[in-house]
Amino acid sequence: MTAERKEVGECRALQVTPGTPHSLRLGTRPRFAPGAGELGLRVIEVGICGTDAEIEAGLYGEAPPGEDYLVPGHESLTEVVEVGAGVTGFTPGDLVVPIVRRPCPELCDPCGRGRWDMCLTGHYAERGISRLHGMLREHLVDAAASCVPVPGVLRDVGVLVEPLSIVEKAIAEAALVQQRTGVALRTALVTGAGPIGLLAAMVLRGRGLDVTVLDQRPPESPKARIAEACGARYLDDAKTPLEEAWPGTAFDLVLEASGYAPLVFRALRRLGRNGAMVLTGVTAGHHSLTIDADALNQELVLENQVLIGSVNAARGHYEAAVRDLLLWQSRWAGLAEQLITARYGLADTAKALQKGGDAIKSVVVVAA
Ligand code: BGC
Repeated sequence: MTAERKEVGECRALQVTPGTPHSLRLGTRPRFAPGAGELGLRVIEVGICGTDAEIEAGLYGEAPPGEDYLVPGHESLTEVVEVGAGVTGFTPGDLVVPIVRRPCPELCDPCGRGRWDMCLTGHYAERGISRLHGMLREHLVDAAASCVPVPGVLRDVGVLVEPLSIVEKAIAEAALVQQRTGVALRTALVTGAGPIGLLAAMVLRGRGLDVTVLDQRPPESPKARIAEACGARYLDDAKTPLEEAWPGTAFDLVLEASGYAPLVFRALRRLGRNGAMVLTGVTAGHHSLTIDADALNQELVLENQVLIGSVNAARGHYEAAVRDLLLWQSRWAGLAEQLITARYGLADTAKALQKGGDAIKSVVVVAA
C-alpha cells in the first residue's frame, strides 16, 4: 500500500531519538496522500502518559527500521480528511482513533486472530512507541482497517479511548478468570488514581461493583472527587494505610494502576478467595522489598488466587471504550472530561510530560 502513496508536502512533527534522554524536538515529516485502503488523518489531540515520559527520558521506545528518530504519541483522536480508493464506511469529518499496536510480520497465532495485544513473537510495532511513527504530528496516513470510529459527540473525550481500551482489556481478563467460579465480581480495589485507575473505577462502578480507589492524595484532591463522583470510595493511603483502613477486607478484584511495585505486594495481600489481581502499571525503578514469600505463596494456593499482567488492547477493547464513554455521557455527564486536567500546544509537549500533584491526564492539542 505504501508504494501507492504520493508525497504531497510536509507537516510539523515531534521527534525523539530513542535511547537518548531528553531529545524531544519539533521537526517535520512528509505528508502523504492516502493510498488504496487508507485514510488521510488530521491529528486533533494526543494524550500523554507514563510511556511517553519514559521514551522522552531515553528509557524506552524504538525508531522505525532504517530511521534515526521516532515521532512519539500513541493516545490520539484524529479526523478523517481524505479517503483512499476502495475505502467504505468513512467520510471526511469522521473522528477515528488509530489502533496503537500492529501485528508481527510473522503473523503469529494471536496476531492472526486480531489479538496483537497477545503477540507471541514480540515483533509487533506500536505507533509512537516502537518501530512505527506516532501521532504527535499534524497529519498521518493509516490503513482504514486500523482505525476505530468515534461518534462526533465524543469529540471532547475521544482522546481517552486508547487509555480506556487498556482498562477494558484488563477488566475483561479478570472477568474471564472469574468465570471459572460462576460467581460475579462484587468488590474491587483500584490502586492508583491516575487516568487508568480512575477510568477503571468508572468502568467497574458502571458494572455495579463496590469500588474502593486508593491513592496518596488528600480527600479534597480532584482525583478523590472524581472517584467519589462515580460512586467509588476513596482512600488516602498516605493518611490511613490500606492495612489499617481494611484490616480484614478481601476484594474479589484488585486492579493495580499505580505502577509502584511495593504497593503491588501490599495490595495482593488484600485479595479475597478466588480473587484476581490485574497489573497494568509498568514499573521503571528498582525497588527491592522483603516479603513473606511463604505467606504469599500459601494465600495464592489456598485461596485460588490469580495474578495477571495485562498490556495493550485489541480492537474489541477500543470498541468497548467507545461504548462506555457514550454510556457515561448520560450517567455521569462531564465526569470523563474532568480527567483531562491540562491542554498544551504541540510546541509545549515537554510541559505536558511533567507529572505529579493533582494533574491527571495532560493532552497536546495538535489542531483544534
Ligand atoms: C500503551 C500500550 C502499549 C504499552 C507498552 C502503553 O502506554 O498504552 O498500547 O502496549 O504502553 O508499550
